[in-house]
Amino acid sequence: MKLFAIFGDPVAHSRSPLMHNSVFKNLHYKACYTRIHLKDGSKLRDTFFSLSLSGANVTVPHKEEAYRACDEVRGFAKKVGVVNTLINENGKLIGYNTDADGFMYAIKEFGNIHNILVIGAGGTSKALTSRFLQDNINVTVLNRSESRLSYFKELACICHTWDSFEVNKYDLVVNTTSAGLKDTELPAPKEMIHNILDNTSFVADVIYGKLTPFLSLAKEKNITFKDGSDMLLGQGILANELFVKSKLQKEDISHYMSKSFEL
Ligand code: NDP
Repeated sequence: MKLFAIFGDPVAHSRSPLMHNSVFKNLHYKACYTRIHLKDGSKLRDTFFSLSLSGANVTVPHKEEAYRACDEVRGFAKKVGVVNTLINENGKLIGYNTDADGFMYAIKEFGNIHNILVIGAGGTSKALTSRFLQDNINVTVLNRSESRLSYFKELACICHTWDSFEVNKYDLVVNTTSAGLKDTELPAPKEMIHNILDNTSFVADVIYGKLTPFLSLAKEKNITFKDGSDMLLGQGILANELFVKSKLQKEDISHYMSKSFEL
């Protein structure tokens, strides 16, 4: 029996155990997926190996620490320095990032997107922004504080803190901050959020399973919006494929993982 887990702080809200266990159980794959509340990210690697995990997912706030914990980082994760999926490959810790492609899967229904405002500059923002740039989408990044913006300036994104921000027209605005996850905060001052929402066609939040104050305002304004559920599903399917190392069909993984959202 293989053991998988999600590391995070907080982690109690995570749907990942339900999603992956639904796949393992229904496809008779001998594995179990649990959650681990990890406060100190520097203990990630030791905890992973002491529990003999075959693989794991990593959520807020440990994704950048997860990158540092790896023996080898592959694919898109290498480019962005952010890891959300860990695989135990013969005692070596291998890191991947499935968040960005998961998000692209989620916004497919919005059609062609040319201008995106990303609110937040943490690990998720880095992954999504880099992925958007890969598709030649114009990206503006708005963050509460200055320090995390240097990464995005190097990518030649338009960058603002709340003090310097001037609104533009956007196809899509994405909240990648954790504002609204455990609190009732908006990701930027209220007046600024109103102004932003009045200038966008679509809205997305990476937080899932609840109507955040940000999405609530979008709903009031009749803007088409989506929470992070489809992103979660998209990244989960890709992570599960890595966990089972091609032993299951992607369509079957996708089917049973989607079904777990009905539970
Ligand atoms: P990080 O800790 O790396 O970054 C957090 C960012 O949010 C920082 O830019 C921080 O700004 C900003 N922030 C935090 N609180 C506030 C606030 N109250 N007001 C304004 N800005 C704030 O987090 P992650 O990028 O790892 O995760 C962010 C969110 O994405 C989490 O809620 C997580 O659950 C969700 N997520 C969802 C996924 C899904 O599949 N649906 C996948 C991945 C993540 P500053 O720099 O000023 O501190």
